[in-house]
Amino acid sequence: MKKNILLVDDDSLIVSILKEKLLLLDQDLNILEATNYKDGMKHIIQHSPIHAAILDICLPDAPNGEMIDYSLGKNIPTVVLTGIYNEKLKNKLLKNNILDYIFKDGRKGINNSIQSINRVLSNYETTVLIVDDSKTQQDILKGMLETIKLKVLVASNGIEALEYVKDKNNHISLVLTDYNMPKMDGMQLISELRDIYDKDELGIIVLSSSKQPEIATKFIKIGANDFIQKPYSFTEVIIRVNSLLHIIDLFHQIKESSYKDFLTGAYNRRYFYTQAQQILENSAKNKENIALALLDVDYFKKINDKYGHDAGDKCIIEVCKILKETLRSTDLIARFGGEEFSILLENISQDQTQTLLENLRKKFEENKIIYNDQTIQFTVSIGAYCATAKQKLEQMLKIADKALYECKDSGRNRLKILDQDQ
Ligand code: GH3
Ligand code: MG
Ligand code: MG
Repeated sequence: MKKNILLVDDDSLIVSILKEKLLLLDQDLNILEATNYKDGMKHIIQHSPIHAAILDICLPDAPNGEMIDYSLGKNIPTVVLTGIYNEKLKNKLLKNNILDYIFKDGRKGINNSIQSINRVLSNYETTVLIVDDSKTQQDILKGMLETIKLKVLVASNGIEALEYVKDKNNHISLVLTDYNMPKMDGMQLISELRDIYDKDELGIIVLSSSKQPEIATKFIKIGANDFIQKPYSFTEVIIRVNSLLHIIDLFHQIKESSYKDFLTGAYNRRYFYTQAQQILENSAKNKENIALALLDVDYFKKINDKYGHDAGDKCIIEVCKILKETLRSTDLIARFGGEEFSILLENISQDQTQTLLENLRKKFEENKIIYNDQTIQFTVSIGAYCATAKQKLEQMLKIADKALYECKDSGRNRLKILDQDQ
């Protein structure tokens, strides 16, 4: 589902600049534009849910921030972008849980608003864990974090928290922990977590009312990323949570770019080699069958020549999409080179390999890509090798490549599977 972003400002130029910048961020966003209160309200009524909004305070038909009140009343994460710099008004709005109060200061104001929206959009996909033995404290913090659209899990002590974090299905990015708790306190919890996760993999913020001297320093020394003194304000919490999540995301992106291909987002050749070695070892240990396939687009050079390099790029992206849609989620897919992909299929018989890969070949045969009003069609050749015993990756690649060559040699748009006896 596309995410809806509402923009309301009586200056239509600001609305169009914001729109353009948001689409650069994510071209799949659905941008709803308005220059007055009435139209802004109409969007909110007609498009539910609105995932985030950037709103002006003073509108021709609503001069006193009515648009903002309406948006907050509907629980929409709201950034206020305004030409009015009024400290009192700003504090009042921040108390009402707006995400940010940004002064229209040319480019800087616009860019800050976009960053705020970007963060909240990522938050919809981000899970955080609250660890606190007090139900009241849990609820207050949960309310704040849900306002910025984070997915929130709650644990009552360190032992419970460890279980939540270790469960990979929870995908927890950040832990917000109290200090004094029964069973396992915040200090012990952090020490256990840091044995497993680095600071850039899992964020930890401590929230404590402790008056012990140097307590914040102690926590940071054992591995907390940040410390917040209780009682805290909404703004204090969301600014620190959002900025830590931003840093963790950046680390994650850097890591990802080292093992993913830029064009398609698929794994790269280097990652394939390291991952495949591990999968092969496991398969041998569990005595499972395994298959390795190499898929190469037929006559790809002709696509580049006829439709241009950009069209060629689009075809490569499409290949990756079809592979992901058709293969099993456990199959390892990587872009091996230009228009060649490698696939490692775990725990699979030769018959299953045949069915799966033949289905894949057919999908490409039937697939049509529309590019600049032109329809592009192409086929693929797939060479595969099925093995039962412990295998060396290099050997498997060599045989799959031989099978691929045979497909090309015998006319292309073919599947050829070799097994150990061939
Ligand atoms: P065959 O059927 O034998 O596989 O022929 P082919 O033309 O598909 O294969 P060949 O290996 O001769 O040519 C592949 C071409 O793919 C050459 C190269 O310019 C192009 N290519 C490699 N990487 C990219 C890319 O990222 N984008 C685009 N558009 N083209 C690429
Ligand atoms: Mg080719
Ligand atoms: Mg090739």
